[in-house]
Amino acid sequence: MTTLKAVRGTRDLLPPETVLWNRIEETARRVFARYNFGEIRTPIFEDTFLFARSVGEETDIVSKEMYTWEDRARAQSEKTQSLTLRPENTAGVVRAYIEHKLGETGQLQKLYYIGPQFRRERPQKGRYRQFFQIGAEVIGPPSSGSESPLRDAEVLEMLATLLDELGITGWTLHLNSVGSAADRARYNEALRAALVPVAPRMCADCQRRAVTNPLRVLDCKVPEDQPIIESLPRIADSLDQDSVFHFAAVTAALDAAGVPYTRNHRLVRGLDYYTRTTFEFTHGGLGAQNALLGGGRYDGLSEAIGGPKAPGIGFALGLDRLVLTLQAQEGNPDSAAQQAMDAYIAPLGETVNAAALALARELRRGGLSVELGDGSFRIKKSFEAANRTARRIVILGEDELQSGILTVKDFSTGIQTKVPRAELAALLARPAGE
Ligand code: AMP
Repeated sequence: MTTLKAVRGTRDLLPPETVLWNRIEETARRVFARYNFGEIRTPIFEDTFLFARSVGEETDIVSKEMYTWEDRARAQSEKTQSLTLRPENTAGVVRAYIEHKLGETGQLQKLYYIGPQFRRERPQKGRYRQFFQIGAEVIGPPSSGSESPLRDAEVLEMLATLLDELGITGWTLHLNSVGSAADRARYNEALRAALVPVAPRMCADCQRRAVTNPLRVLDCKVPEDQPIIESLPRIADSLDQDSVFHFAAVTAALDAAGVPYTRNHRLVRGLDYYTRTTFEFTHGGLGAQNALLGGGRYDGLSEAIGGPKAPGIGFALGLDRLVLTLQAQEGNPDSAAQQAMDAYIAPLGETVNAAALALARELRRGGLSVELGDGSFRIKKSFEAANRTARRIVILGEDELQSGILTVKDFSTGIQTKVPRAELAALLARPAGE
């Protein structure tokens, strides 16, 4: 039989690397809580229609990257349904916002999520078919202040704090405004017209985008196309007064808070639902896939999928890329990153195995971390295993069982002591060497 492997573009994450993943997730949860965000968990698959309507039919994600299948009907009365593994999480969160009528509370909803997303992209370093995102959305009826530029600035300030707290240095915040839906439409047409004479000189992708989705031309990385793209009209020139003021208020708040950013006129983002503020944090150490996170405002999204007016802003951070950045900065965690256990119990002979489990249970239920050896091990092997995993070894033989006095060795000092069973837990709880 051929050996089975994880599917292309998917990966197993093993310890000790998972220590780093957990550290990032815990830091994110801690920081989000400080800003009054609560966790939302939405299903991993949704009706395909949700993504087609929100992300947009013409985007790369919907047109070629989704894992979609026709779900079989279980009964004759049931119809088949087209389902899709979520390629991103904002659509699911906004669907849940509508479904649970969260807008009727009148309150601003601050929701975060952590979980896998799926896109059939060409796998490479930093780009996977199953990848993980940490994201958050701030959404609510206009009366909740959801349209305020202060919300945009607060989200950006929170992200800067999160990256700082994770110890990620050297990030850049790219900021732009794509204006209202009407501004965008106007700009799209200006771009389409400007592309007509120059598109034939551009790459094949750009020639196609010039017709189907002109905004995407701005994402092109082909060096020869760059001077042409720089000469195209800028979206900043198509913004209406409200969008201009909105953007100015976002940058003023960032300046006041001391969050650095650069204006990037080409940042229009890949999804259809963005309006006004768009942003991306990049990191030089990541190479070609240099976006750590991206996001923006999506004031019309709820209505586009049949909900009430509910302006919002959100972001999604690539967990895989955060891990890569931290690994490049500080190396992979070694096994020592996993906390040493408080004790290793070494049963001397298989006849005391059962008693050893009972002792381990007692200690573990008392809050200690305990690794359990096996009575079939020679004493040398037990000591080696114990030394690798724990601060102390507890020897449990027939004699110890009878007398109730156990032998404990502290690996940091090499000192071996005899302890009555009643005092064992207190001794093991002490730091090594004490
Ligand atoms: P997007 O939803 O495309 O704006 O992506 C938000 C963030 O998710 C990006 O900035 C990346 O960090 C991460 N990301 C997107 N696609 C992938 C992928 N295929 N593999 C790994 N990370 C990804």
